[in-house]
Amino acid sequence: MIFESLDPPRAELTEMMAATTEFAANFLEGLPDAPASNLPSTTKPLDPPAEGPGEFADLLARFKEAAATAVETAGPGYLAYFPAGGLVASSIGEFLSSVVNRYTGVGSLAPDMVAMEDSVVQWLCREFGLPSTAGGLITTGGSLATLSAVVAARHDRLGELHGTGTVYVTEHTHLCVAKAARIAGLRADQLRVVPVTDDHRMDAEAAEELIAADRAAGREPFLLVGTAGSTSTGTVDPLEELAGIAERNGMWFHVDGAYGGGFQLTERGKAKLRGVERADSITIDPHKTMFLAYGTGVLLVRDQATLRAAHTVDASYLQDLQRDPWPPDYCDLGPELSREFRGLRMWLPLHLHGVGAFRRALDQKLDLAAVVHDGLTELSEVDVPVRPDLTVNVFRLRSGGDEENRRLLERINATERVFLSSTRLRGDYLLRLCVLSHRTEPQRVREALSIVRSLVR
Ligand SMILES: *Cc1c(COP(=O)(O)O)cnc(C)c1O
Repeated sequence: MIFESLDPPRAELTEMMAATTEFAANFLEGLPDAPASNLPSTTKPLDPPAEGPGEFADLLARFKEAAATAVETAGPGYLAYFPAGGLVASSIGEFLSSVVNRYTGVGSLAPDMVAMEDSVVQWLCREFGLPSTAGGLITTGGSLATLSAVVAARHDRLGELHGTGTVYVTEHTHLCVAKAARIAGLRADQLRVVPVTDDHRMDAEAAEELIAADRAAGREPFLLVGTAGSTSTGTVDPLEELAGIAERNGMWFHVDGAYGGGFQLTERGKAKLRGVERADSITIDPHKTMFLAYGTGVLLVRDQATLRAAHTVDASYLQDLQRDPWPPDYCDLGPELSREFRGLRMWLPLHLHGVGAFRRALDQKLDLAAVVHDGLTELSEVDVPVRPDLTVNVFRLRSGGDEENRRLLERINATERVFLSSTRLRGDYLLRLCVLSHRTEPQRVREALSIVRSLVR
């Protein structure tokens, strides 16, 4: 397939799309039986692109090969870290968005498309009970959403001088908060670690004491970070109490719901996340809890003006761009200027499947995590130290140290039917099993349990 122009003639386009569709259909059909991991012992650097043209079929074949040597993060057996799967409707949205390649860094160049993206953000604001001043944007992930939240908090509460400002986290707060603080120009000693209670939640009383002591010592506490679903155990901090502390102390309250935020769409999740509606900003990762492909985070803020104030910088070469209050100019809400249109990757699946489909799928994950918890608890050989708030379970062999547990994880993953990860809690090595992919059905969960059972006995 060799064509002169950089745009393919219609016949070639049709042919490439047909081959792509064929690949996608085969891939999706093969997922239930694909090995949960298939990692080569070595990976070699590849040749640079040639001067002359290649054949699409060859190139697709090479992509297919590369995709095959990987942890099968899209498959039903992926129970490590935070599984997501990847919705097909979302991928189609990606393709359509980049074909039309509209500019959505500002609202005025493609207003109706920016309105599509904003409609998704606004829908999320309502789901989280935020007021009509709320807004936000779709980012590439939780880390970037958190960066903008930290920058907005710093700008809103401290202004330009932030050398004495302090941020409050726990040992279970995601690393992206420390990273965001560093990029935002804060020193390591401006990050204050609040102790956790026995059940791994931020100790609200200890937080209030530390904040008061810091203030007395001349520090300026400005940002309190609560986690709605920690990475290690999926535990939700006492958000209601933390919101009260932030309010009493004039601090910005950020909720990291990168993992757990999506469960706000369910009744049980909403009950666990009570207090999140009082947040000044919320991070959500649709590439975790809404089953989208990697590269989609969301930042919601209580008052869109705070986000704009923290990020807006102007330049003379942008003078032709009309800047209206709505639809939003995303370049004023985050670090990016040019960006891909991220709206359709959420808008399309939400409209195609309906919101109810997401609520039901997430509800099912909560049920399945309970099945895992009960199944593990029944095994006398393992200790299951945490009752899950959401869908993360951790466990370890009762007899045997870290090394035996590490080997158990290796043996579980060697079955290639499931893929788990591990973490540490108070120094102890724990295996970690998170049910989250829309593709993980009851059958695979039962299989995971029977694999664990057979290997610990
Ligand atoms: C995944 C995660 C993040 C980081 O999000 P990325 O999308 O990986 O950048 C932050 N916080 C929590 C709790 C997470 O689970």
